[in-house]
Amino acid sequence: MSKVLVFASVQDGVLPKGSREILNAGKELSSVIGAEVEAVVVGADATGAAEELAKKGASKVYCASDTDLAGLVPDLYLTCIENAVKQSGADTILFDADSTGRDLGPKLAYRLGASLITEATTFVQKDGKLIWNRPCYGGNAMSTVITDRAVQVLTIRPHSYDADLADADSKGEIVNLPLEMDAASAATKVLEVIKEASKGLGVEDASVVVSGGRGIGSAEAFAGLQELADVLGGAVGASRAATDAGWASVSQQVGQTGKIIAPDLYIAIGISGASQHLTGITNAKNVIAINKDENAPIFQRATLGIVADYKSVLPELIEQCKKLIG
Ligand SMILES: Cc1cc2nc3c(=O)[nH]c(=O)nc-3n(C[C@H](O)[C@H](O)[C@H](O)COP(=O)(O)OP(=O)(O)OC[C@H]3O[C@@H](n4cnc5c(N)ncnc54)[C@H](O)[C@@H]3O)c2cc1C
Repeated sequence: MSKVLVFASVQDGVLPKGSREILNAGKELSSVIGAEVEAVVVGADATGAAEELAKKGASKVYCASDTDLAGLVPDLYLTCIENAVKQSGADTILFDADSTGRDLGPKLAYRLGASLITEATTFVQKDGKLIWNRPCYGGNAMSTVITDRAVQVLTIRPHSYDADLADADSKGEIVNLPLEMDAASAATKVLEVIKEASKGLGVEDASVVVSGGRGIGSAEAFAGLQELADVLGGAVGASRAATDAGWASVSQQVGQTGKIIAPDLYIAIGISGASQHLTGITNAKNVIAINKDENAPIFQRATLGIVADYKSVLPELIEQCKKLIG
């Protein structure tokens, strides 16, 4: 019988949104294929998160909680996850497609000799086979993927499943996983964890994101986007070009190698709309684009487009928003 194992990461002792989404993905999958869903949670202080997973629907939770697991050390994490896979006998292992899942998922698939399906969203079961759907070409097309291998590892695109967790009928069992690898022999070592100073909501949580690209022109001008974001109660995002230029932090980058977001409103300023950027906003409800090039691809995705130099539009936009919102 199939068994689904979901990987959950821990942030400051609690389950982050992505881990809650991934448990719901696992629960939905297990109800369709008639399998059990189990979880593996790894971190420096993972016991509280393990309790929550057990209460919210994981029938068994493999918990590796050890101070050596502070910060992402791939070798150590993979040893714990592989151990959990062995004990559980799971044939379908789900990761959130965040930076941790994108790092660990492929490595685990390699170790297990399993298939890897990345950025999957939905699935159907047909003739006993799971068929996974995943967006491609910047969300302009969907591909369907089936694997013949006995074990499959998936990364699931953020925002594809609800993050609210319902209580389960019964509490799952918690199994402690000892750390079976000496931290000193790990190939990668975390020397220091530097927490980014909090600037309010992150792009992944904000319902309005004001994003800037290379067209903004300078770090000083980029900082000016914060005023519009503040008026709208949103967060500032960035294209990779703006991130690479050092105008924004990596955590603000939207797109294929950045964050996949689903705000109600996305305002793209001086961003051309490369497919790798659009991948990050496939699920944005409304997109406003400001670009001086009327042929910029971002206008194909925009709900509303303004063809102009942003410098002539932004001050007025901020003023009008202030008047409307108060
Ligand atoms: C493997 C891979 C992964 C990638 N991942 C990502 C990713 O996660 N996120 C991402 O964003 N990119 C990613 N990229 C890079 C991507 O291909 C583009 O290079 C990048 O998105 C371009 O950023 P941009 O739109 O800011 O810059 P550009 O493409 O240079 O566009 C700048 C735009 O600003 C406009 N403009 C200029 N001046 C003004 C002005 N004064 N007023 C208004 N408009 C103006 C221009 O008309 C132009 O359209 C990836 C690329 C690869 C190969």
